[in-house]
Amino acid sequence: MKLIMLGAPGAGKGTQAKRIAAKYGIPHISTGDIFRANIKNGTELGKKAQTYMDQGLLVPDELVCDLVVDRIQQSDCEKGYVLDGFPRTIPQAEALTAALEKLGTGIDYAINVEVPDANILNRMGGRRACLGCGATYHVEFNPPKQEGVCDTCGAELVLRDDDKPETVQKRLDVYHEQTQPLIDYYTKAGKLAEVDGTKDMDDVFAAIVDLLGE
Ligand code: ADP
Ligand code: AMP
Repeated sequence: MKLIMLGAPGAGKGTQAKRIAAKYGIPHISTGDIFRANIKNGTELGKKAQTYMDQGLLVPDELVCDLVVDRIQQSDCEKGYVLDGFPRTIPQAEALTAALEKLGTGIDYAINVEVPDANILNRMGGRRACLGCGATYHVEFNPPKQEGVCDTCGAELVLRDDDKPETVQKRLDVYHEQTQPLIDYYTKAGKLAEVDGTKDMDDVFAAIVDLLGE
């Protein structure tokens, strides 16, 4: 099962992708997590990516595409994968389609988690991220058992720099301009599935399971 999660920043792509990965036994591949791990480890890629991420801009396509195309050919991806945060531009989508065609395959669904901008600002301000294991919480909608501490690995939870209000608006603008056209791209390819991301997390997941099957 090869899946793409589409949606605005903060729509709940990561939240649902983690659940999909656990239920269907496929890896969750988040380009945002890959960049944050590189930043944490001080790699060259991390240094390059951070300058864009801090401004709410997309990292250039050439730093993203090969990385994902390599990742999806690793052995744990044989049964499929759920891509979260990639593709984010038409050239990224075209690169993915071309790479998969070369491998004689294609994606099953691009699942669009639809949430209006008005809800996004609240979601992002309340998001807390674990820089240890990548888990995500929300102070109101999905709080950790102990404030500020990750349930899974015990590391400290932080408000991501790019979740601060001044950067969130920029990320939404970038989303509408560069990423939203992918909805049309995957509709034309006959791969688009829509879910209402304003529902609570369990209901959103139930809609996805309805689509993918038990
Ligand atoms: P994305 O990966 O699309 O950027 P996340 O999955 O990290 O988004 O979700 C953004 C924030 O909103 C997180 O704090 C998450 O806990 C919360 N969230 C996710 N889905 C829902 C939902 N259906 N209802 C309310 N809050 C949600
Ligand atoms: P995310 O964790 O998906 O919200 O991504 C955080 C940030 O990482 C984004 O705002 C971008 O700066 C960068 N990023 C993640 N994935 C991509 C991608 N596919 N293309 C370009 N930039 C990306």
